Amino acid sequence: MKEKNLICPSCGQIVFCQVPDNATEEQEEKIAFHSCDCTVTEIDIDDWQVLCAKQSIEELCGKDAADGALEPLSDDVIKLLYRIVELMALSEIAGATIKTSGNGKITFSVGSKCEIKINRTHTTTESRTARTQY
Ligand SMILES: [Zn+2]
Repeated sequence: MKEKNLICPSCGQIVFCQVPDNATEEQEEKIAFHSCDCTVTEIDIDDWQVLCAKQSIEELCGKDAADGALEPLSDDVIKLLYRIVELMALSEIAGATIKTSGNGKITFSVGSKCEIKINRTHTTTESRTARTQY
């Protein structure tokens, strides 16, 4: 790791960061973005986050839902949840809440750094956050 002053790609502030020695310019930008205390005004969700969010949906609602702690949801519902994430990435929607029939609800929201947050609430709450990869 090395210490470096980087420019936040979102607000242009200089941010003091810890950077892996072999980080690419693109990775450094992301590190600066996540280290910066600014909040983004425009939602910009990248493909990688969509993939992560789908993985999170699988973990929270798929066959092994929350390591067996929650009831798995049907494939049709999971497809709908995937679609929500895709629409969030397109900035068509900023979030959603789906109430299942007896299996709790799933809430989607976007964090201050454009991370997609997914909550599944049923007696217990399980959360996942899909962040931009460093
Ligand atoms: Zn910033």
